[in-house]
Amino acid sequence: MADMQEYKCLSCGGGLEFNSAVQKMKCPFCDTEFEMSALKAYDEETKTAGASDMKWDVQSSGEWGAGELDGMSVYGCQSCGGEIVGDATTAATKCPYCDNPVVMKGQFSGALKPDYVIPFKLDKKAAENALSNHFKGKKLLPRVFSSQHHIEEIQGLYVPFWLFDTDADATVRYKALKKKKWSDDKFNYVETSSYSVLRQGTLGFTKVPVDGSTKMPDALMESVEPYDYKDVKEFQSAYLAGYVADKYDVDAEASIARANERVTKSVESSFKKTVTGYDSVTPEHTAVSLKGGKVSYALLPLWLLNTNWNSEKFVFAMNGQTGKIVGNLPMDKSAFWKYFMMWFCGGAVGAVVLQILYGLIANGSVSLTVPGIVGAAVIGLLLSFFVTSGMKGQLKTVGMQARADSYEKANSLKMRTNRDTFLFTKVEKTPKPQASTASASATDTSTATAKPATKPATPVKPPAQVAKPGARPGQTPSQKK
Ligand SMILES: [Zn+2]
Ligand SMILES: [Zn+2]
Repeated sequence: MADMQEYKCLSCGGGLEFNSAVQKMKCPFCDTEFEMSALKAYDEETKTAGASDMKWDVQSSGEWGAGELDGMSVYGCQSCGGEIVGDATTAATKCPYCDNPVVMKGQFSGALKPDYVIPFKLDKKAAENALSNHFKGKKLLPRVFSSQHHIEEIQGLYVPFWLFDTDADATVRYKALKKKKWSDDKFNYVETSSYSVLRQGTLGFTKVPVDGSTKMPDALMESVEPYDYKDVKEFQSAYLAGYVADKYDVDAEASIARANERVTKSVESSFKKTVTGYDSVTPEHTAVSLKGGKVSYALLPLWLLNTNWNSEKFVFAMNGQTGKIVGNLPMDKSAFWKYFMMWFCGGAVGAVVLQILYGLIANGSVSLTVPGIVGAAVIGLLLSFFVTSGMKGQLKTVGMQARADSYEKANSLKMRTNRDTFLFTKVEKTPKPQASTASASATDTSTATAKPATKPATPVKPPAQVAKPGARPGQTPSQKK
């Protein structure tokens, strides 16, 4: 006995035993059978998966040269505490965050000099136009909002960003499932085959941005992404003329966690594209190591528009390079219910009319039943819910980005391990609803009660399938970390 290794059931976690009759490892608790080779391979994969190692070089070269800070002043907002930097030509007067007056606090000194800047491409007029387009076609936006809201000042603001460049080498293990369905006279069967899928490879990232200002809502900034780095320039203070710049108050170290999160999610999603032929694929373990992780500091252009309406604050932001505009909008509740009722009535009446027509064509008579009317109401409800949800969705354009797909280096995905290991199969068996038997009539309720809900004494062999005896219905594979 060289190998005294104990294996746990991958379905329920119980201890496995060798079953000499089938020459496989078998779980005494849930009867699932395993090939020894699959258990060994899975064990190997979970042991060698490793942990993430995501380190970055945060040393920034940015030193201000002689004279570069001349004429640049810091302005502070007494209302919200926001601080911005502007040059002599800007003469900042309003706080871009809250619209209150700002006062000069003195000469700007130090902090870090940005490495890069993407200069503004779109002007104030473009921002105004984008905002009125932003209101168009949104059926639930209160009509008076566009005319009553008052944008005091639209401000062009350079937002501080930390940009993360790296090559990621990653190992991702996915749990993948294949499902097969069939039925016989009495039962429906679902066979679920579980696989452990291992992917190893590399993927490069260019300048994944993380917002370095606490004043700027992260969700708003991630919503105006992506910025296009084809226009990125070495920073020069001349680019600030006419605009103000926010000072970073979240340092590079503190922004790493967010960058790592987006890189990891992107790796999982890009590697997943190579996992095909399954009904579901979920990442179970991901280990990412970074090579040449470098952080730089940049200013990216943004038009910020604040407005108050009905004593509520609304913020809109437009990407100063691409023109993408975002900002959540208020909802007109009476319009919501108007559309809701309209689609509800339309859907329900439509469904009733269809039933009447069907009755006339099939039987030559109007056959409208109570379940039929209830069904029509449900259809109306679903339809109105679906349509109004879509309308509501138009009003909400701000949200965090899960991944960093836009910053993946083109053609940098290189896979070196593609291994799919079959683990086990389970068959779930559920009694068929009696209504679907051949004699569909009003009398079949009496026969339904005669049938026990539990499985019959004799196991039913599915045609052309590997029968898994004793797989209990309702049992699902246990979640693993
Ligand atoms: Zn088990
Ligand atoms: Zn303010």
